[in-house]
Amino acid sequence: MNGATTSGQLRAHNRVRLLRAVHDCGATRTRSQLTRDLGLARGTASVLVAGLAEDALLHEEPAPGHARGRPTQVPGSHPEGPVALAVDVREDAWELAACELGGRVTVLAVVPHDGTPEGTLGPLGEALAEHAHRLGSRVIGAGVALAGPIRHGGLVDIAHLGWRSVNVPALLRTTDLGAPLFVGNDTALAALAEARRGRLRGVRVGVHLHVDFDLGGVLVVDGHAVPGASGSGAEFGHMRIGGSERLCPCGAIGCWGTDVGANALLRHVGLAYGGGRGREQAERVLATSQEAVAANARALGSGIAALVNAHDPEVVVLSGHGPELLQRAGEALLAACEPGLMAIRRDAPPRIEGSALGWRGSLLGAMESVFDAFLTMEGLELWRKSHPDQACDTPDRQSVTHSTLNGENAP
Ligand SMILES: [Zn+2]
Repeated sequence: MNGATTSGQLRAHNRVRLLRAVHDCGATRTRSQLTRDLGLARGTASVLVAGLAEDALLHEEPAPGHARGRPTQVPGSHPEGPVALAVDVREDAWELAACELGGRVTVLAVVPHDGTPEGTLGPLGEALAEHAHRLGSRVIGAGVALAGPIRHGGLVDIAHLGWRSVNVPALLRTTDLGAPLFVGNDTALAALAEARRGRLRGVRVGVHLHVDFDLGGVLVVDGHAVPGASGSGAEFGHMRIGGSERLCPCGAIGCWGTDVGANALLRHVGLAYGGGRGREQAERVLATSQEAVAANARALGSGIAALVNAHDPEVVVLSGHGPELLQRAGEALLAACEPGLMAIRRDAPPRIEGSALGWRGSLLGAMESVFDAFLTMEGLELWRKSHPDQACDTPDRQSVTHSTLNGENAP
């Protein structure tokens, strides 16, 4: 390998590191802070920022609240920069958003669906194709979160809706998209988002539980949801804990998830449940029936004890309805959890916390799955190839840009 190749690779590597740092901090850190964070020389950072700006990958804005002197610059998303389309498909509706580097989210549509694979994924595929066409080469991929186990990258089962081995890429007609598709389980993606910008950030071993119509859960190790051999690992809700003999729509008997979430709330007060219907009624029950809420919280707490015994997590994070259950019936939850803990776990039980991202976790995780593939040397190289209009940061251009920036930096 000659010197030029090595320096080119080093530059490509540093471009990825800088964009990753901007993305992960939510485009809040100044150029000098990022330079320090990454251990870069000031001149090197200037060249990198200039090159990335020319490639429409970064744009700098003055830091807010900078009153006097030359403003400090904060690198963030470029107005013509990459966009990840992200979707959260729940059992009753889907939400589609455009997400930029740094995690800025613009919701494009929230659409109820009829619960059938075709009635859900058909219109969603059309919406994705429409926005991909509108945004053109800015679109770097689409991430889709679904409320069921995903196998082999695209087959989903959503038991409550009667979906069995539904081929998501085929029904979304992703060939019309012109960009890669990433399909993931809603809980695993909520956990990914929490690991990047929420309560699981920097946590070595954590458990993430997502409560919607029922309960999903996954073990998170070093920021990654443990995927399982076929990709369908995030299914703590389908463990037989809690002593129920109820048949779960998944086919198993006594699943924990049948006792936690909107379906269990509706059942507790004698309302019809299942089929991804009744979200508003369940929210009313959550707000008004302390008894139903406490029953949900107790079931949640006793299952958490089993998971804590098994996995020894630092923290258990709850998303979806979870934070509200914790807020409204935290004592009942803890009282049900503690007796199930091994003595060695009771001395220093893990924290149980509500998500920092609320209901947005699955959508943000879908975004992260797209940026994870994009923020690589290969991803950035493809971007440059698909943006021939943007200048290349050849050594000549770099030196010109570098001196220009040095000039700007002069007192
Ligand atoms: Zn089940």
